[in-house]
Amino acid sequence: GQDPRIARISSAIRVIPNFPKPGILFQDITTLLLDTRAFRDTIDLFVERYRGRDISVVAGIEARGFIFGPPIALAIGAKFVPLRKPKKLPGEVISEEYSLEYGTDKIEMHVGAVQEGERALVIDDLIATGGTLCAAIKLLERVGADVLECACLIELAELKGRERLGEKPLFVLVNSA
Ligand code: AMP
Repeated sequence: GQDPRIARISSAIRVIPNFPKPGILFQDITTLLLDTRAFRDTIDLFVERYRGRDISVVAGIEARGFIFGPPIALAIGAKFVPLRKPKKLPGEVISEEYSLEYGTDKIEMHVGAVQEGERALVIDDLIATGGTLCAAIKLLERVGADVLECACLIELAELKGRERLGEKPLFVLVNSA
């Protein structure tokens, strides 16, 4: 059976219809952060999965990957690297563009933050089409890192983001159709 902690995590996530625009069911993880047990269980489930796998870097995607990535990184003895929206990082960056429903977006990483041969985990709150995670994987692989897996709290399985990741493993806690 499923880990009993998952049910509590799932019910602590608030779903808000028509945000930020009509037709979108927004998965709001801020309510999970208010439930100290659900928040703790979320971090523990990731730490239990990734401890002892020699991961040297947890790369978190702006903005909600910045909430879950650092406690996981500290617990498994890895560094944390923020993957940010354009023009936020002050140092030299490499960037990766990806397509959205309308137009494109971009994420950036500081040059020198991750070295060739490092073992990386990518974390975000949610996978929808998978475009964001794909761009994150590309950034890390361009600097020679080995991306072991991507991890999210929530998967919107209908959007088939998992297929877009190809062979790259994806670990999620909650499936939301
Ligand atoms: P995608 O690149 O299509 O997989 O979109 C994933 C990114 O968009 C993540 O950073 C999510 O935080 C955000 N996102 C997409 N859809 C939703 C949703 N329904 N609720 C909350 N966040 C979403």
